[in-house]
Order: sequence, then C-alpha cells, then structure tokens
Amino acid sequence: MSMNRRDFVKATGAAAAVGALGVPTLALGNTKKVVVVGGGTGGATAAKYLKLADESIDVTIIEPNENYYTCYMSNEVLGGKRGLDDIKQTYDGLKAHGIKVVHEAATGIDADKKVVKTASGEFPYDRCVVSPGVSMLYDKIEGYSAEAATKMPHAWKAGDQTKLLRGQLEAMDDGGVVIIVAPPNPYRCPPGPYERASQIAMYLQTEKPKSKVLILDPKQRFSKQGLFTQGWERLYGYGTDNALIEWLPGPDAAVTRIDADTKTCYTTFDEYAGAVVNVIPPQQAGQIAVDAGLADDSGWCPVNKKTFESTIHKGIHVIGDAAIATAMPKSGYSANSQGKVAAAAIIAMMNDEEPGVPSYVNTCYSIIGKDYGISVAAVYRLSEDGQTIAGVEGAGGLTPTDAPEFALAREVEYAYSWYDNIVYDIFA
Ligand SMILES: Cc1cc2nc3c(=O)[nH]c(=O)nc-3n(C[C@H](O)[C@H](O)[C@H](O)COP(=O)(O)OP(=O)(O)OC[C@H]3O[C@@H](n4cnc5c(N)ncnc54)[C@H](O)[C@@H]3O)c2cc1C
Repeated sequence: MSMNRRDFVKATGAAAAVGALGVPTLALGNTKKVVVVGGGTGGATAAKYLKLADESIDVTIIEPNENYYTCYMSNEVLGGKRGLDDIKQTYDGLKAHGIKVVHEAATGIDADKKVVKTASGEFPYDRCVVSPGVSMLYDKIEGYSAEAATKMPHAWKAGDQTKLLRGQLEAMDDGGVVIIVAPPNPYRCPPGPYERASQIAMYLQTEKPKSKVLILDPKQRFSKQGLFTQGWERLYGYGTDNALIEWLPGPDAAVTRIDADTKTCYTTFDEYAGAVVNVIPPQQAGQIAVDAGLADDSGWCPVNKKTFESTIHKGIHVIGDAAIATAMPKSGYSANSQGKVAAAAIIAMMNDEEPGVPSYVNTCYSIIGKDYGISVAAVYRLSEDGQTIAGVEGAGGLTPTDAPEFALAREVEYAYSWYDNIVYDIFA
C-alpha cells in the first residue's frame, strides 16, 4: 500500500520545512533503483519508507542473515526474561511491501559505477543506502580476536553471541565474578553496558547471590549515570561491601590485554580473572563502509546532516551507527529516525527537488530491575548552518531522580511498548 504524501511527511517528521519548501513530487512510473546495504534497523527502515512513499522504486536490501535479532532487549535475554526468539525479526513483512531481499554480504561498493557487489554479482543503483552498523576493533585489545570472542563474547551484535553469553551465565557457579569490559566512546548504545550489568545483577540476585558483576571501564562517566547508580544503590547494594555491581572507572581500569583461556583481563597495573568475561571492544563503522572509502580517519562516516548523503561519495547515504550524526547517539531509535530522513531526502532528490529540513528523535529506555526503568529522550534539529544535529532545548529529558515507584514501573511498560512499536514500524 502506498502512503500519500501527507502521511509520508508526517511519518518522517519532515513536515515543517517540507511545507515551507514545497512537497516533493513523487516519482511516477519510473524504475529508479535503490540498493540498501544492511537490513538492520536503519537499512530496513529506509527500505520500507522508500517503498511506502513510492512503490515504483525498485528497492533491494543486501543482507547476509535470514533473520535479524534486535540488540534492543537483548540484555533481557541475558537477564533471562526473554528468549532469543523473542527478539527475532524476519524479512517477510518487507517482502510483502515489494522489497527484494538478497541474503548475501556486500563485498564492495563502486561509487563511480554505482554498483553494489556481492559474491554472486553486481546490483546497480541510482542511490544507495549503507547501514552496516559497527565493526569490532578486536586488535585494540591485545589477545582479543573473533576467535577469542567465542570464549569471551562481546554480545554487541545480537544472535549467537547473545546465546553464548547467556549460556555461560547459566553454567557459572554461584560465587563467580562476571566481568564486563566497557568500550571507549563513541560506540553503539551508550547506556547498553550499564543496562547489561543491571540485567545480569538481577539474574544473579535470585539465582547466584554469591556472585557479582565487575565493570572495567576506561571512561570516567557514562550515559544516565546518576539514574543508574541510584537504581543500583536501591536494588543491588551499590557502594557497599556486598554490592552486586562494582564499577571501576578511568584509565587505570582500561583493559589493554586479555587471555581468553584463563579469562583474565589486564590493565596497566592490575589483573582481573572472571568466571564469565564479556569484552565489548572499541568500535568503528561496519567494515563494508570502511572498505568502500566512506569513513574518515575517525573510522566513522561523515554525512550531510540534512540528507545523510556521504560527504565523501555522492549518491550514497550512510545512516545508523556508522554515520557521524553529531549529538544523536548510536541507537536503534536514532537509526530508525535517520532511515526516514534519508528516505524523504532520496525521494526529493530523485525528483530534482530540494529535500526538506528534517527533525530527528531518540529515546533510550534502560530496564535496570524488576519494575524499575529509566529513560532519556531528545528531539533534534538541524543547526542553522546545516553542519550539526543539535538537541532542541526543552524537548525530551531524563527520568526525574525523585520519580515515584509507580513511575519507574511504568517506564518498563513504556520500554516494552516502544519495542513492539519500533519493530512493527521497521519490519511489518
Ligand atoms: C546490548 C544492546 C542494547 C541496545 N539497546 C538499545 C535500545 O534499548 N534502544 C535503542 O534505540 N538502541 C539500542 N541498541 C542500539 C541499536 O541496536 C543499534 O544502534 C542499531 O541496531 C543500529 O542500527 P544500524 O542499522 O546502524 O545497524 P544494525 O541494526 O546492526 O544493522 C546492520 C546490518 O547490516 C548488516 N551488514 C553488515 N555488513 C554487511 C555487508 N557487508 N553486507 C550486507 N549487510 C551487512 C548486518 O548483518 C546487520 O543486519 C542496543 C545495542 C546493544 C548492543
């Protein structure tokens, strides 16, 4: 079913400025081709919203995996509340919209010839969307590697790694220490490691009460820190001798070397052995984006903040975790918002029209205990000079520190309904 223009503009949040500039004329009866590399949160959103806006566009997703496991709510799999199947999404909904889904990895993108390459052939495009997520910089920690991650999982891409880490937690003896090695900024899902610590602590509290979680963190501060530590104090004895969560911050807690066989982490001055060790390494843009020359020296992809078109290669829009989106965090909700902005821009550009000035949105919920949720929300706007995406003052905010119990419990319900809504928005 096609959306009419008004619905599309409403859904993408581009209403205000598009109204001012004139609504894009949708392409009629042509065979414009868009190839989307990566059928995760950003890519699947862009594909769906392109097709809803103009069903005549030939939209193809290149994605190696038959199913997509959302990282969001994967920490609940570690805590035991959900199974892996509860976070599994299929591509049936997107196919029903007429989107072609090719289950292969992209092996290259030729920006001059405008083709995406896979092992089986080449896919020509008029415009390309690249949303490959992150790649793990294993070599930044001596001894860590894809092989070592089978013993000390990162579980920072949901699926087999999540299952592996959950299995290790279940197999661990009561009294074992679970180490989480947190990554340096910037990385996918800023509150994620701390929600993970909370979910694991919740599991240990009832199943292995002599155990604890130790977070080794190169950073001094983290997202929603005040709310997390307040929750940890209330729920897990944080700051006491019997705390279920201990957080060691700063350069002295930066893990520089690991031994996967003995499950030991080494910092400059100390060593820490865990029964289960979750190493979340430093990250950069997904490898295909780096290989295609879309990343700069930072390892992330610079884009035009209005259209998400690469500032390095024209005709390619980079969205999601891989993109440099200034104030927007690397989150699923951000990737979803950016997918809609990119789709609206592509439709306009394909019709030789000026893309509208978008607004963008993000909310991150973290479930840190039973009936205990917290959140941060923000609305973003393009700066006057078009160079940055900045938060709109007064829009959004954090869970108040004096929120009553019923409000914290309601945040958990909101988190669940956010999940149901976003996966429907992307995949149904
Ligand atoms: C533990 C955890 C909890 C999280 N919780 C939340 C949350 O509560 N809320 C929230 O908003 N966000 C959350 N996130 C973050 C969110 O999952 C990511 O920000 C989001 O998935 C980014 O979308 P993306 O499209 O950039 O990447 P992805 O969703 O990872 O999609 C990338 C896709 O590209 C594919 N791909 C990679 N290379 C290639 C290639 N060469 N060819 C073809 N395809 C390729 C991959 O297979 C994958 O399907 C969480 C993340 C983690 C790790």
